[in-house]
Amino acid sequence: MKALLVYPEFPDTYWSFRHALAFNGKRSAFPPLGLLTVSALLPDSWQRRLVDMNVRRLKDEDIAWADIVFLSAMIVQRDSLEHVVALCKARGKRVVVGGPYVSTGAEHLHAADHIFIGEAEMTLPEFVRDLERGAARHVYEATERPALTATPIPHFRLTELNRYNAMSVQYSRGCPFSCEFCDIIEIYGRVPRTKTNAQMLAELDVLRATGWRGLVFIVDDNFIGNKRNVRALLPDLIAWSERHKQPFSFITEASVNLAEDDALLELMRRANFRRVFLGIETPVEESLKEAQKGQNTRRDLLESVRKIQAYGLEVMAGFIVGFDHDPEDIFERQINFIRESAIPLAMVGLLTALPNTQLWRRLEREGRLLQESTGNNTDGSLNFIPRMDTARLIEGYQRILRTIYSPAEYYRRALECLSRLTPTPEPRNCGLINELTAFMRIILTLGVRDRARVEFWRYLQRAVTAHRSNFAHAVTLAAMGYHFRKLTESYCR
Ligand code: SF4
Repeated sequence: MKALLVYPEFPDTYWSFRHALAFNGKRSAFPPLGLLTVSALLPDSWQRRLVDMNVRRLKDEDIAWADIVFLSAMIVQRDSLEHVVALCKARGKRVVVGGPYVSTGAEHLHAADHIFIGEAEMTLPEFVRDLERGAARHVYEATERPALTATPIPHFRLTELNRYNAMSVQYSRGCPFSCEFCDIIEIYGRVPRTKTNAQMLAELDVLRATGWRGLVFIVDDNFIGNKRNVRALLPDLIAWSERHKQPFSFITEASVNLAEDDALLELMRRANFRRVFLGIETPVEESLKEAQKGQNTRRDLLESVRKIQAYGLEVMAGFIVGFDHDPEDIFERQINFIRESAIPLAMVGLLTALPNTQLWRRLEREGRLLQESTGNNTDGSLNFIPRMDTARLIEGYQRILRTIYSPAEYYRRALECLSRLTPTPEPRNCGLINELTAFMRIILTLGVRDRARVEFWRYLQRAVTAHRSNFAHAVTLAAMGYHFRKLTESYCR
């Protein structure tokens, strides 16, 4: 059997990092970890071919080669997913779909032959058995959430390594919190499940054996969801890294209560964690309560960010406007918070009701839902009727973006961030600066062609004089800021 694994295309969003990745010749930030795991669940005897449409074109000959096509997607990839399903069906191929979008929006994908709802560790082997005896069903729905000890090592060997900025691994699924807008807890549950230490290290061994060096994204939605297990993992990870001469540095996502745990932060620093994404959402306590984000109301958020930065972890964060309790001055309050927190990469989005979330159900009860979400909460589209006047909300939202990604404002934040980080040596092949050509491209684009070149040179001069040991990080931040500014210009036209 010949299995074609296709990862649909992402639109250009803040999360694509496309304008920054272009500097070092990368096509995509991360490989499709879900499909690499699907590959590992298929029989050894099957041939497989991966086409990540974010790094290369899906050709007719790829489809012609395949007996069966597997697709996995998030909601934001919906258009591309539907296009590829139609294309493969028109070529008479058997099509299998799964992943987060399919798990919550399967009713839109009837054209596919087989639909996987939920996690596939148990259902995929069952499907293969059914297929072999000619009795495969249309829908496979996981009846329980599998232990991650059942998850095989992803087939990293299928990826074209040099096309990605980072590799991905997963340690846990699920989160103990209950944020109203979150779809993670609906898909993966509120009891975090983790891999064993041995499993994680074996995965890193395989990744290292591919030749990959540099950044590794631990894709967990909340890496510290099970703190006890994480505390046990990190010493082993530190020892592994030392044994192998620090081949990787790590980025991940975590809840803000990370800030209360100095011992854990110290372990993450020693394990070479460089950046952590936090869901801060809003500085307004009433809005946090509305979002059921109690973990953010129990602490001083600015102090929490500063504490994490002091351990050498750059904080990247998500912010949301559009809560019912947002006051009239929410936009200024968000801008001030982002400024004071020195978070260069602030993902500010409009509140979105994702399918099957608590928020979706409440808004449905209240008759306020308008349409399905696009999955891109930064493109200025709303899928529900907000309490605040819609035009005012969108105008204020765009004002936040224009302000925080104006060159002077962004570079000021990046410098303040650098001054708060403990300098750490840049690991090999980590970040955009490692290649001289990438550096030259950045200089040419930001320092020569860009209309904000004066601000760039001022920033670079400050970075050289005040943050010499973090200079590589400073250049990476400049490239990232350029991406965010380009996207902001397209959103706020
Ligand atoms: S902390 Fe993050 S992952 Fe956990 S419920 Fe809230 S939004 Fe979801």
